[in-house]
Parts: sequence; C-alpha cells; structure tokens
Amino acid sequence: MKFTAMLHDYRVSVPTSLFIGGEWREAADGQRFEVIDPANESVLAEVSSGGVADAHAAVAAAATAAAEWAAKPPRERSDVLMRAYNLMLERSEELARLIVAENGKAMPDALGEVRYAAEFFRWYAEECVRIAGQWHSAPSGANRILVTRQPIGVSVLITPWNFPAAMATRKIGPALGAGCTVVLKPAAETPLAALWLAAVLEEAGVTPGAVNVVPAERAGDVVSAMLSNPVVRKLSFTGSTEVGRLLLAQASQRVLSCSMELGGNAPFLVLEDADLDLAVDGAIVAKMRNGGEACTAANRFYVHSSISTEFSKRLAEAMGRLRVGHGIEPGVHVGPLVSRRAVTKVGELVQDALDRGADLELGGRLRSGRGYFFDPTVLTSVDPTARVMVEEIFGPVAPVVPFEDVADAVRMANDTEFGLVGYVFTRDLSEGMRVAEAVEAGMIGVNRGLVSDPAAPFGGVKQSGLGREGGHEGLLEYTESKYIAAEW
Ligand code: NAP
Repeated sequence: MKFTAMLHDYRVSVPTSLFIGGEWREAADGQRFEVIDPANESVLAEVSSGGVADAHAAVAAAATAAAEWAAKPPRERSDVLMRAYNLMLERSEELARLIVAENGKAMPDALGEVRYAAEFFRWYAEECVRIAGQWHSAPSGANRILVTRQPIGVSVLITPWNFPAAMATRKIGPALGAGCTVVLKPAAETPLAALWLAAVLEEAGVTPGAVNVVPAERAGDVVSAMLSNPVVRKLSFTGSTEVGRLLLAQASQRVLSCSMELGGNAPFLVLEDADLDLAVDGAIVAKMRNGGEACTAANRFYVHSSISTEFSKRLAEAMGRLRVGHGIEPGVHVGPLVSRRAVTKVGELVQDALDRGADLELGGRLRSGRGYFFDPTVLTSVDPTARVMVEEIFGPVAPVVPFEDVADAVRMANDTEFGLVGYVFTRDLSEGMRVAEAVEAGMIGVNRGLVSDPAAPFGGVKQSGLGREGGHEGLLEYTESKYIAAEW
C-alpha cells in the first residue's frame, strides 16, 4: 500500500507497508499505526505495524538472501549503493519534505540530512571494494599468518527518529557493502523515511531479502524476537543509553556482536582567548542543528568567566534571530520537537534550572496551541548540578556556566557518564589540542561546531556507545576477521 500525500503543494509517494523478502506486505495481524506531523499534530499516514511473526519473517528473508548477497563481487555491491546514492540525490527534495513532515525539523536541516545520508551510500560504495586482509610471516618464520575479513551475517539495525534517513544509511551502507543482509526497525515516529529508502534500494537493484524494513508500534516485542532468532549475528543500535543497556543485556544471551551509538551530553568549552564570533557561530551549529535534537548537540556551555557575559549575550542574540515555525515554511530555521513527551521534558529541564537560580537570557517558553514548539532558550548562572547540565536536553536550550581555569573546565566536561563529543574554542591551537586530548569523548570539534562526516569514525566512549560508524571502521563493524593458519 502506498501513501501519497500533498505536503505543501508537493506530491510525495511512499510505501506504508512492511518490506520483507523484496515484497511490500501488510503485517501478519493486519495492525497499523499512525504517523503524526509534530508541527500541527495531524495524522500524516498509517503504517503497517510489524509484530513478532513479521520480525521472524524478516530475519528469515535476510538469512535466505545472505549467501547470494555475500557472494556478489564487491564491485556489484558497490554499484547498487552508488545507484541508491544517485537516486537519493535526484529525489532529495522529496525525501527532505518527508523528513520535515514526520520529524518536524526545518527544511534546511532536512536537506542537509538527505545529503549527509546519501553520502554514506557513496562512501561505502567506494570503501567496500577495499576490504583488505593480511598475509605475513609468523615470528618463528615457520609458517604464514593469513587473515581475511568475512561478512558477519544477518544484522538487525535499530534507528532513532532524530535523523530518520541518515541513521539508517549509516548502518545499511556499510552492512550491504561488507556483504551482510539486514533487517531495519525504524523509530515509530519516523517510519516513512526508512520505507522511502527501502523503495530506493529496491529500485537500485538490491537482492530481494538483503534489505528488510519492519516498522513497529511495539518495539520491545519485535526487537526481542529478532535478537532471539538464532540466525541473527549482529545488532547495530542508535538511540538512548537507557534502551541501549537493555538491548546489550538481551544481545548478551546470544553473544551477538554489538555496535551501539548512544546518548550524549556534549560539553562546549570557550577558552579565554577564543574568537567570540567564531565561538557563537560554532555554538549555533552545535546547539541548533535539528533544533537541538542531535546526539552531538552542545548540551553544556563552559565559558571563561572573563567573556561569559558577552558570550551569553551574543548567543542569545543569534538564537533569538532564528525563526520558529512549521519546518516547511520558507525562512524557518527551527521546527517543532518530535513529540509532546519531548517538548514537555525540555520544559521540565528549563523549569528545574530556573528553580535552582538560573537566569533566563532568552526564551524559556513552550508555545501553546497545536504542535510541539519550544522557543530557543539561553540560561545563565546555571547550577552545575541542575538536570539541564546532567541529562541530555534534546531541545533548543543552551545553559551557560562560567569557569576560571581550563583544568576546571575539563574536569566539569568529564564529570558525566556520557562521552560522545565535545567542542573547544580557542585561538591557541596547542591549548586546543591539549583540551581535545583531555576531554573524554569519541569526537572533538576544535574551533568547529560540526564533526559529523561519513568519512570519519563517529562514536562515543563511556556510556555513549561501543564501536564506530562512518569511515573505514564503520565497514569493519560488519565483518569478522578469520585467521587461516596454513602449512605448505
Ligand atoms: P530510543 O527511545 O532509545 O529509541 C531508539 C530506537 O530503539 C527506536 O527505534 C525505538 O523504537 C527503539 N526502542 C525503544 N525501546 C525499545 C525497547 N525496549 N526494545 C527495543 N527497541 C526499543 O531513542 P530515541 O528517542 O529514538 O532517540 C534519541 C536518542 O538517540 C538520544 O539519546 C540520542 O542521543 C540518541 N542518538 C545517538 C546517536 C549516536 O550516534 N550516538 C545518534 C542519534 C541519536 P520506538 O520508536 O518504537 O520506541
């Protein structure tokens, strides 16, 4: 069944059923669920809701296709990914509009996501023809050590709603490139982008069954069924640390290989000598990309006390210039948050900071009426133990805390269970590099508010995750090395 909608004078057509074994089909029990436009709370579409039987059917389809897909020459797998990349670029406007509709983000962010998402297909089309092994002498000289890399096998991919296209291609690209077949369970808020991508991969000529997509209203049952299925070899999850822990426990039952991209709580350090214009521009990107709904979003601003008042003032001016509205409207920079739950949580975090003595430099308001809008907000004099500093905000709120010396700022930056990304702004590159090495995170932006790049290893330390996506490392996550000890 296809959903065809007019999204602001633009026709978008996307399947709304499950994609299993190369066929579009309804859920075995006929269940469907609603997809909501967060800007006006209207129902966008009804999508098939996969259940346990569908989960097993999708895994079985991936297992059936596994040998054929793995045996394809890397060049042929690469060609499929490259065709999908080109189709995504040709239809980028359509996918972007779909993302705006189901996720809420503003059109410039959605177009940025589509380019970023497509780039994972191109990058892995290029990388998958270069999976190297090793051949060397044993130290004794008596024999040779041969190491080859083989596809890990059927992979279960679980994605969040905040980058509904890019989080899917960041997994599907390397998995297909490495020769694995996959079952994707997208977030319930944003299944349409995932189904759109499945249709593109189908058109690009992927082997039937190599890619399966099972949206589901009841994620827990469906994912548990997949992880307990004996043919599954790999779990790649992007989402909250809370759900990540739960899935790691389940995956441990079958000793599955796990790649986990989890939550963040990024510190943004502005040192005394920083170029303030650059720091504010960087802060806007790091904080406001996707309206703050990014795992890489700057969560805590630590600014040297000599410049913190000026920095907060300029940041508030820049954030105050951003136009909030329906993401599809021209000139809008910030759309709604994804759900009522999300916007309520952001409101609670701001209130908690204010209750503990923070000052409101800008915003602080949850908009009344339809849609899940929260105004860009800057808080100063924030208590370092306020919830807004400890928890992932996932909204357009910037809390600023002054510091006296860099060692103190690094200590506060590291005082968290998370370690995904950090940012540092300074004119002294040596100091910047020292801070970059000292901050406990998988990624650091030095004088940059954006680190994501398909060619770079993306991922976190501590409770922000395990493994890396992107770069060559992202491909190796879908392979196992096999050592062959040969005598001849
Ligand atoms: P989430 O609640 O953890 O959900 C992520 C995915 O897991 C969704 O598909 C969800 O399905 C599914 N899920 C939820 N509960 C489950 C359960 N009990 N068993 C199996 N699957 C379950 O995260 P989210 O709210 O969608 O996304 C925001 C989080 O993702 C943030 O913490 C953010 O930092 C993180 N994130 C991390 C990265 C990274 O690369 N490190 C990138 C983007 C986002 P339903 O939608 O049906 O609940």
